[in-house]
Amino acid sequence: MLKIKDLVVEVDGKEILKGVNLEIGEGEVHAIFGPNGSGKSTLLAAIIGLPPYKIKKGKVVFKGKMINKLPIWERAKLGIGLAFQNPPEINLKMKKLLEKIGKDGLQEYVKKLKMEDYTERDINRGFSGGERKRAEILQIAAQKPDLLLLDEPESGVDMENIYIISKVINELLEKNKRIRERKKSAIIITHTGYILDFINARLAHVMIDGKIICSGPPKEVLKNIKENGYENCEKCRWNDGRA
Ligand code: ADP
Ligand code: MG
Repeated sequence: MLKIKDLVVEVDGKEILKGVNLEIGEGEVHAIFGPNGSGKSTLLAAIIGLPPYKIKKGKVVFKGKMINKLPIWERAKLGIGLAFQNPPEINLKMKKLLEKIGKDGLQEYVKKLKMEDYTERDINRGFSGGERKRAEILQIAAQKPDLLLLDEPESGVDMENIYIISKVINELLEKNKRIRERKKSAIIITHTGYILDFINARLAHVMIDGKIICSGPPKEVLKNIKENGYENCEKCRWNDGRA
């Protein structure tokens, strides 16, 4: 579904991503770990085409099409959706936005995410951290993208709501319980990994200083980070020397 090759991204003339390679197949969920400022959010921004992130080198290929130069709305139309790490306040009633992008069954998601009392309010205005995250997932539910880019969806969210958010994300991934397959894909950035208790990820990647330095089984990679810190990731058994 998504192929990223040798991606170099700059902001204000400063190189942030320094050659990222990543491949996400149909129905796959990948997690990305990494210290603050390592370039995780920049990677998602480059995939969807947010300014001021400029692709200097490399390729982003989505559904077989090179999308490097496409504007953000074309990428959204092709099926990429982003839930922000820090969702901004917008002068627009949530209801109006949902009506514009909304597909079938949206009311059901408003209920599941406990957002009934928020749709008449301006998007994110005065929302708590957890409410903003639920609002982001609701917007993703309205868009129903094929590739979900989720930037720290559980940060600042209490345990009960992490469960609610995860359940909705699993539904959006169109997980078929019977054949244990998913149709849609996702990249999830997470620090704690809590969300991976509810959403099965196939692979986890560790990003340090603009590069993916290792990829491995999510639970084990996370355990290694918790026990040894990021500075020891380079010595981790899944680090194949790509860095
Ligand atoms: P992460 O998500 O891993 O914490 P980011 O991708 O947000 O890291 O940031 C990586 C680096 O790029 C940081 O040094 C950050 O200050 C810088 N950066 C990100 N966005 C901008 C921006 N809009 N303008 C200037 N610098 C930025
Ligand atoms: Mg970030």
